[in-house]
Amino acid sequence: MKIAMMARNPELYSHKRLKDAAEERGHELEIINTLRCYMNIASRRPEIYYNGSKLTGFDAVIPRIGASVTFYGLAVLRQFEMMGVYPLNESVAIGRSRDKLRSMQLLARDGIGLPVTTFAHDPKMTEEVLATAGGAPVVIKLLEGTQGIGVVLADTERSAKSVIEAFRGANVNILVQEFIKEAGGTDIRALVVGGKVIAAMKRTGAEGEFRSNLHRGGSAAAIKISPEERSTAIRAAKTMGLNVCGVDMLRSNHGPVVMEVNSSPGLEGVEKATGIDVAGKIIDFIAKNAQVGKTKTKGR
Ligand code: ADP
Ligand code: GLU
Repeated sequence: MKIAMMARNPELYSHKRLKDAAEERGHELEIINTLRCYMNIASRRPEIYYNGSKLTGFDAVIPRIGASVTFYGLAVLRQFEMMGVYPLNESVAIGRSRDKLRSMQLLARDGIGLPVTTFAHDPKMTEEVLATAGGAPVVIKLLEGTQGIGVVLADTERSAKSVIEAFRGANVNILVQEFIKEAGGTDIRALVVGGKVIAAMKRTGAEGEFRSNLHRGGSAAAIKISPEERSTAIRAAKTMGLNVCGVDMLRSNHGPVVMEVNSSPGLEGVEKATGIDVAGKIIDFIAKNAQVGKTKTKGR
């Protein structure tokens, strides 16, 4: 097979691992810098140009679209889909997952456990929003945050109000969420590939830190998840329509709750913590499922 991987930095652990895993299995994998692709989007015969020549002959495309280039990256991915190239994750599903509000609404509709979460625009609604989230302590999150930046724990009503007001003053969208104290600064990342959990790790925040992000000094370890956690992760992936994703969950008193579904999960933490060849399983999934011209949505 000939696989394209949309990625900007070929040196990233995940990207190197996917390339190696593809080549070990006798496939060809070309890393394509998403932002250097250009295309005539008005042509009836969809094409993508890269470094002065037309991209042809690809059986599958692995989108590794960074959050900051979502808009352009999805346009390039849609063009691949229109050319009939099989996408590991479809553009529509990635777009869905990049919108935290829309994701939570879809997950809630399908009955998947979530932390109580409120969202409002009007700054006069601060008290109501806090009350709806169950009152302090609450977690306040920037809608556009990643890697734990813009996630704040407010212990008291008063601090919650000032944090909400500060964010509102900065004109950013926020979520106010029930604080899952019993999670104890640990979250679970389940890697779902093709409707199966193939690896799981727990991430624990640094001493005194409620956020477990590895970027915030957290540490990762392999974990055996419960059947309920497993089925929650699988259902979340299905709702989002993602073939490959990382489902982040917290262990709450009311069962597993999903915080986020990530469509380009990093492989380093999970491979090192579990010793599982996640990259290989992803390539195997593509080899088994890629059918040229048989993409589900063709970017629609
Ligand atoms: P990001 O997408 O920036 O990583 P998250 O929403 O995943 O932000 O939050 C970062 C971390 O903060 C999580 O990994 C988790 O450890 C902790 N956290 C987030 N929301 C809650 C919550 N409602 N209750 C308890 N801990 C939380
Ligand atoms: N068509 C919408 C989408 O692409 C609907 C999402 C949904 O409700 O599942 O995501």
